[in-house]
Amino acid sequence: MFSLNEKVALVTGGSRGIGRAICETLAAQGAHVVVNYVRGEAAAREVVLAIEARGGTAEIAGFDVSDMKVAEESVAAIAKKHGRLDILVANAGVAVDGLLLRVKEDDLDQLFAINVKGSLGCARAAIKTMMRAKCGRVIFLSSVVAEMGNAGQVGYAASKAALLGVTKTLAREYASRGITVNAVAPGFIETDMTAAIAEPARVELQKAIPLGRIGTTAEVAAAVAFLASDEAAYITGQTLRVNGGMYV
Ligand code: NAD
Repeated sequence: MFSLNEKVALVTGGSRGIGRAICETLAAQGAHVVVNYVRGEAAAREVVLAIEARGGTAEIAGFDVSDMKVAEESVAAIAKKHGRLDILVANAGVAVDGLLLRVKEDDLDQLFAINVKGSLGCARAAIKTMMRAKCGRVIFLSSVVAEMGNAGQVGYAASKAALLGVTKTLAREYASRGITVNAVAPGFIETDMTAAIAEPARVELQKAIPLGRIGTTAEVAAAVAFLASDEAAYITGQTLRVNGGMYV
């Protein structure tokens, strides 16, 4: 695959699930990976050990992306420590389900604080550093539900659709600085977030996926690694769908 040698990458929510796979894949391509976590310090340390065991390098950075000031200061500190930040993968996210008639305002606030504002805070600090370097890669984790909708996920879909608007806007704002901004929109991927889906619903779900199966975290991570590479320099403002054909 594509070389990320000498790049420094920050992956938010990198201690498990899709984030963990992204950390491992970027490190396997040669990047030094900063694994952000909010509560799972032990899990984040495990990711670092797994990366080191395969000859890569990584470190942990605990902070809550939903506090925009903290997120910006933390990302700036990471960039300062390394003298660079080449890749930001804004992966941290939560899914809080609810039909419109039932959804609580607090849930909407949480979804927007983490999924949208959390991603924006990290991006703002990262882009400041990338502007000085005149290059950089920002990748947001959106979702298939942003484009196709999903009954019972109004707040989550809104937050993930917001990231598609953010992607296109930041792509236009920072293209002249050599920074590309793209989104990866996974379909249903085997993680803690989807493990809760009960068996009958899972079977129905698989029927709705042309490739006939739920995706893997490694398949999402491979798309992120491509967009993070030098070879993707002419791709910006795009959404790369990794969804088994569920939404085309
Ligand atoms: P997950 O719940 O396993 O992981 C989410 C990560 O985000 C966790 O490590 C969690 O600690 C972290 N996080 C949550 N709040 C945070 C905060 N305030 N600050 C820092 N980190 C925080 O979920 P996942 O399935 O691995 O999802 C990763 C991303 O992919 C999410 O943005 C999710 O919305 C998106 N996604 C997932 C799927 C799927 O099928 N699993 C599908 C589409 C999109």
